Amino acid sequence: MTTTAVKGSSQKKGFNPFEMAQTQFDKVADILNLDSSARELLRQPLREYHFGIPVRMDDGTTKVFRGFRVQHNDSRGPCKGGIRFHPHETIDTVKALAMWMTWKCSVVDIPLGGGKGGVICDPHNLSQREQEQICRGWIRQIARNVGPVADVPAPDVMTNSQHMLWMLDEYEHIHGGKYPGFITGKPVGMGGSLGRTEATGYGVVYAIRESLKELGIKPAGVLASVQGFGNVAQYAIQLLQQMGGKVLCVSCWDQKEQQSFTLRKKTGVDLQALLGITDRFGGIDKAKAKDLGYEILPGDAWLEQEVDILIPAAMENQVTAENVEKIHKRVKLVAEGANGPTTPEADRVIKARGIHLVPDFLANAGGVTCSYFEQVQCNMNYFWEKDEVLGKLDLKMTSAYHAVSELAKKQKLFMRDAAYVISVRRVAQACKDRGWV
Ligand code: GLU
Repeated sequence: MTTTAVKGSSQKKGFNPFEMAQTQFDKVADILNLDSSARELLRQPLREYHFGIPVRMDDGTTKVFRGFRVQHNDSRGPCKGGIRFHPHETIDTVKALAMWMTWKCSVVDIPLGGGKGGVICDPHNLSQREQEQICRGWIRQIARNVGPVADVPAPDVMTNSQHMLWMLDEYEHIHGGKYPGFITGKPVGMGGSLGRTEATGYGVVYAIRESLKELGIKPAGVLASVQGFGNVAQYAIQLLQQMGGKVLCVSCWDQKEQQSFTLRKKTGVDLQALLGITDRFGGIDKAKAKDLGYEILPGDAWLEQEVDILIPAAMENQVTAENVEKIHKRVKLVAEGANGPTTPEADRVIKARGIHLVPDFLANAGGVTCSYFEQVQCNMNYFWEKDEVLGKLDLKMTSAYHAVSELAKKQKLFMRDAAYVISVRRVAQACKDRGWV
């Protein structure tokens, strides 16, 4: 899904998301006392593919884009995970994200493994035709190593349902048949599921709703600050406002200035008005926002607000040792809409301050859960009503949330570690049962 592009990992020196994912894993492998063969298998991806995608550009020149697909683990089912288009994509980011997908599918207990893909490119500067050629080229390079029973891609940062349909079309040309279960996040009416667009953002809010119940806070009047204004953030804001919450701040990427900024309105942001001045990448027009009466603050300001809930819903490596102390003492809950927004150093501070955290691969699992529903519907060739999809999504998210929260309480674990314990245990068991380790 299109997510606001803020400064990614590779722009901040010294940060390696794959090392971060391994650090998180190693900690849980110790808690679980995993044997060395299971550790060895799970702390690396099973397979990774690197390739070039030559594209004839609109000006007649040919450019070669770098593409990746990483399959971390498929012991519980075909690999599953999005494809990101980002100018600062790196193989280590894709490896981390593939690993997090394995834990994500496992924590919500769907029969899928973990994968991720990417292309180093900036869709801001590419025509629709050029983007179509990248999508088709990506598939041509990997068509024999992915598929409905092997590895099922989906949208992610700066990719959307149109990209998925081009990819499906190319895949079907190559394999000579119709394979709607090959890819998810397709347009509704072309094998997509109702509710898929909303699913990730709504899933974040289902987890927030359950957290607030446990914290004894009523959703009506609760204050939130959101980093990002892409698909995840937009639908999280929508549902949070429907529950009576108020969103004080959103931050987004300024493509012109190549840095992010924060918008604030003390009375709460007006989602519809902001959507009217937002581009397809979640970039809000700063000048128009000013005209609408928004205060313009620096990019990091979303984190410092006097609110109850923080929702980082942009990119990895955003809440770090450098800025975590700026979190206001009023904050009681952090719900991670993005993948990997909080570093292990920042985690330690959040934990010490007793802030309740819903970790990324649980909080944002709504997207892949709905992707799984999309596959199921494609296999049946029978599509559910939106209420049915969202009802099933709520059930899955709510039960996964409570399983994690109960374990966290019982074993006095940080929520992230509890989620990891459940996920890693299931995957390690699957690898054992198959006789791999
Ligand atoms: N890209 C989304 C994620 O990070 C969704 C993946 C999917 O639907 O397969 O969870």
